[in-house]
Amino acid sequence: MSPEEFRRFGHQLIDWLADHQQRLPNLPVQPPTRPGDVRALIPEEPPQQPEPFDAILADLDRVVAPNLTWWQHPRFFGFFPSNALNAGILGDLVSTGLGVLGLSWQAAPALTEIEEVVTDWLRRMAGLSAQWTGAIQDTASTATLVALLCARERTTGFGLAGGGLQAEDKPLIVYTSAGSHSSVEKGALLAGFGRDNVRMVAIDEARAMRPDALAAAIADDRAAGRTPCAIVAAVGGTATTSVDPLAPIAAIAARENLWLHVDAAMAGSAMILPECRWMFDGIEGADSLVVNAHKWLGAPFDCSLAYVRDEAHLLRVMSTNPSYLASAVDSEVRNLRDTGIPLGRRFRALKLWFLIREQGVSGLQARLRRDIANAQALAERVAATPDWQVVAPVPLQTVCVRHVPEGLMGDALDAHNRAWAEAHNRSGLAFVTAARIEDGWMVRVSIGAPSTEWEDVEALWAAMRRFAENG
Ligand code: PLP
Repeated sequence: MSPEEFRRFGHQLIDWLADHQQRLPNLPVQPPTRPGDVRALIPEEPPQQPEPFDAILADLDRVVAPNLTWWQHPRFFGFFPSNALNAGILGDLVSTGLGVLGLSWQAAPALTEIEEVVTDWLRRMAGLSAQWTGAIQDTASTATLVALLCARERTTGFGLAGGGLQAEDKPLIVYTSAGSHSSVEKGALLAGFGRDNVRMVAIDEARAMRPDALAAAIADDRAAGRTPCAIVAAVGGTATTSVDPLAPIAAIAARENLWLHVDAAMAGSAMILPECRWMFDGIEGADSLVVNAHKWLGAPFDCSLAYVRDEAHLLRVMSTNPSYLASAVDSEVRNLRDTGIPLGRRFRALKLWFLIREQGVSGLQARLRRDIANAQALAERVAATPDWQVVAPVPLQTVCVRHVPEGLMGDALDAHNRAWAEAHNRSGLAFVTAARIEDGWMVRVSIGAPSTEWEDVEALWAAMRRFAENG
């Protein structure tokens, strides 16, 4: 494809995306696609001869668009917001278009330094002290894995340089809770701790980790000759956006000399709002932190900001120094490959740089405040309606509800709530997520797609009532 053809097709593609954004509110949020439908539209064999690019573009309408669940739809209330604001989309396009890789500062100086600037901008926006240093990882799952590797190496005195975990005579223990994301357990398994050594600390009625239960679990492990190593706390837990109390947890971590990692993948964006900062009370006692700019903040996936307070330790755990990557300026620069797992590094900072500049901090704050207000208003409606319950506190933009018709309980109640959520999603009118917590199934309404306004939330509530109350 020549540069002139690239220009022409590129313009067509942007037009296609802009048209799509205008059409989006009228599309079903969830398509009627059945498993295998998409594959059936595409030949099994790859094309032997080049195809005209027009034919490829035409398949966006034939194959792709009719078969997607629309995360950017104003009536998408599923999972969590994974917002792709237009400035971020264009930043991502440039990142791919430039085709550069940040193997080292020298390999892409602007990539490295813009990443330093934007991670520091977000640190300032979230009210974190200058002790935190950030880098961009693909996902929170990776950031949490890296944090657990750092914890393991601190506790073992850099065991990786010798026999690794296989040389430890006592098992190392990780503490988290049922409020945390599955990536915590997965990270602990991948970092070699083993499932037997992951403790699910008891939670309170707001689904927050109980510091007294944490302290007791640590004491039990020490008494049994095991080695407590790391705590992973959640600010904005996955199911209900529960908030673990960081200050008492950090005090325990300091007293017991444990690594404290804070997973604020979802809620971290809200720390740009001073009124939400109470959730970070105690954060300065943590060792590592992850905030997904690719969730509510609006940077297109993937863009996960991982911060540590002791970067020298992180670098010692993660660094590799093959001779071909050495450069004359290494002593003056950060080589960001040493902050994470992959060597290659995308220019992810561009999309965040574009986004923050185009929105301004005030623009980002206004959207998040709108979503929090909409969540509060919905929670009030639900709580005031007979046979409906709000089943968890609503500190952010997620409202967890259950329809409890008289006489229904146990498995029948679970089945009812799952069934109406499923039927509702099949209708394409809006999209919600059913999830299980300690006392049974409930339905999460996660507000925060970029174009979701109060009338969309009202329409959702009307649809939910229709499907739940009328079957
Ligand atoms: N942590 C929390 C609290 C989440 O809500 C999610 C959401 O999926 C994750 C971690 C995983 O994020 P990622 O897809 O970036 O690994």
